[in-house]
Amino acid sequence: MNGFIDGENQAGPSVIVPLGPTNQPRVLVRSLTKDEVNFNLSGMELALANSIRRVMMADVPTVCIDQVLFAQNTSPIPDEMLAHRLGMVPLISRNVSKGLRRTSDCDCDEGCYYCTVTLRLKVSYTHGERGKFMPITSNMLEVVPSPGGPPPPDPYGPPPDLSPDDQQVVNNRDPELGQPVGKNDSATPPILLAKLSRGQEIDLTCKAYSGIAKFHAKWSPLSAVAFEYDPHNKLRHTTYWYETDEKAEWPLSSNAAFEAPPQPDEPFDFNAVPSTFYLNAEGVGAVPVREVVEQGIDILVENLANVILAVQRETGVDEDEEGGGLVEPDMGMGMTNGINGHVNGQSMGGYGTGYGDGMGAYGMSPLRR
Ligand SMILES: [Zn+2]
Repeated sequence: MNGFIDGENQAGPSVIVPLGPTNQPRVLVRSLTKDEVNFNLSGMELALANSIRRVMMADVPTVCIDQVLFAQNTSPIPDEMLAHRLGMVPLISRNVSKGLRRTSDCDCDEGCYYCTVTLRLKVSYTHGERGKFMPITSNMLEVVPSPGGPPPPDPYGPPPDLSPDDQQVVNNRDPELGQPVGKNDSATPPILLAKLSRGQEIDLTCKAYSGIAKFHAKWSPLSAVAFEYDPHNKLRHTTYWYETDEKAEWPLSSNAAFEAPPQPDEPFDFNAVPSTFYLNAEGVGAVPVREVVEQGIDILVENLANVILAVQRETGVDEDEEGGGLVEPDMGMGMTNGINGHVNGQSMGGYGTGYGDGMGAYGMSPLRR
């Protein structure tokens, strides 16, 4: 069923993906730019592929404005609406997991250099022409120093006395952290926040924190993730609604080139499961999309390791007992067979039904033992 595993009993796929030396999960990157990546995942289960999609969208941290203090707002936009718009402005968030502490992990009371990026918006149109408007855009947001930062470098004095944790944040801080996306890039148009007419002004201070999209969608580093499997609908997970002709009204996606089309007299394989997944992720510019994918996989590995540890704690199986050691989730770097020595010999025959025809136990998640 997987068009590019062997293709012997298929009509022959038009795109062949070479297999690696092992039968591990595989990634084929079809295209990659700063803001968009298109890749295929194969040799894994639907649940794992979908987990990668969800982790990329909802668990990769970014920086977003979360509190706004208004000193003055005489624009026609109410405070609440302007605060909401400010929250949705993407801010540069490269390396935020190391360069900015979560507020919950910080000792400060009201936000400091180590957990908060402060932005200021102070604009007025006092001398404007009657009947004209001044557009207020995200490019007018200025990052200002947050309180409690490290002292400025002094070439003649001793180095600043910082704790190792603080020093790590200082070392990992991206110099552009918290800047609105596109501020220093003329190719990216700014985001319109409000329009001022003559005599109106806005003066506000924003606090931006590190967060994830599980708390609020504004923290998502991705604007869209397309996810598809089984483009020919051989598994019949989808029922197409059509008026006269199903094929004409539901054209095949570009991913269909990666799988062999169904034969007219092909019997329905009720044991078949999807094994190749096509993802297309679009970033908002806060984090390069390549970093989002890499961090997402790291976070997923960590989460799975935590599940294994929790199960081991709950069941009382400890590391020293035979066969019960900590199994690191294997995302494709190591070997599927032979984890702790007790998967060997089973993976060839023991899990034959896991992947329908052609797959056997290959690509079985090492977590499913
Ligand atoms: Zn703090």
